[in-house]
Amino acid sequence: MIIDGHCHAGEGDLLTHPWNTSAPLRDYLRRARAAGIARTVVFPAFHSDYAVANEQLARLVARSRDRLIGFAFVHCKRDAGRIGAMVEDGVRRLGLRGIKVHGHEAMPTREVCDAARRFGLPVLVDVAGQASVVEMLAPAYPDVDFIVPHFGSFADDWRAQQQVVDQLVRHRNVYADTSGLRRFDYLVDAIRRAGPGKVIFGSDGPWLHPGLELHKIRLLGLPRAAEAAVLGGNLQRLLGRLRVPQRRGFVEASAPEPPAGRASRAPGRQSARA
Ligand SMILES: [Zn+2]
Repeated sequence: MIIDGHCHAGEGDLLTHPWNTSAPLRDYLRRARAAGIARTVVFPAFHSDYAVANEQLARLVARSRDRLIGFAFVHCKRDAGRIGAMVEDGVRRLGLRGIKVHGHEAMPTREVCDAARRFGLPVLVDVAGQASVVEMLAPAYPDVDFIVPHFGSFADDWRAQQQVVDQLVRHRNVYADTSGLRRFDYLVDAIRRAGPGKVIFGSDGPWLHPGLELHKIRLLGLPRAAEAAVLGGNLQRLLGRLRVPQRRGFVEASAPEPPAGRASRAPGRQSARA
């Protein structure tokens, strides 16, 4: 099963850039279907209130539950003090399955990492070129999975992207998503040095074309199992770590079905079951 690990959805309220104004899914969903993408991780556009934006996102996900997997967006400074509650509400009531943080707003704090750890959620953190923060996050929270989109820089900062390739090798809980990455050989390097288990396909839809971004992965010419890992197996494994503690303690068995079905917990498994 092909899963797009990176797409924006819904309306922002800031109205200064495409990414804080509107991320309409209609064309994206048509393009993704035509490309053979079965499911897509979505998170809100930039917004002045992520409690509102996450609520809106959950309504979109509810309308296309067979295709969309929602991540909660939090602003680590502005939402400080309420992040635990926002994440808990996101998981229990809104059915969200991961956390999105953007470095242009604020880098991940202990509050957000603690919340991720509690619920077994991946943290998709756009470090916006500051790949050095990964050196703080990954060792401090070895049991939390961090996904670094665009290999660390949508703005094509090759230093950050090279650094992230190196971090994939050194930190077992760090992954990179391929969305918007232009320098193809960094992708080749990442697969060769860190292995296909550390790279996650993402498109940065609806603004980038999911079929075009997917073609980038096909062009790697990977063996079948390795390609399947990049195109969905890795993400399925991370999403499968979700646990919803009961109010009085942690009971993993009570966790809802992982969104993509039979996700494996084994860290070394790379083959997706399509
Ligand atoms: Zn994005």
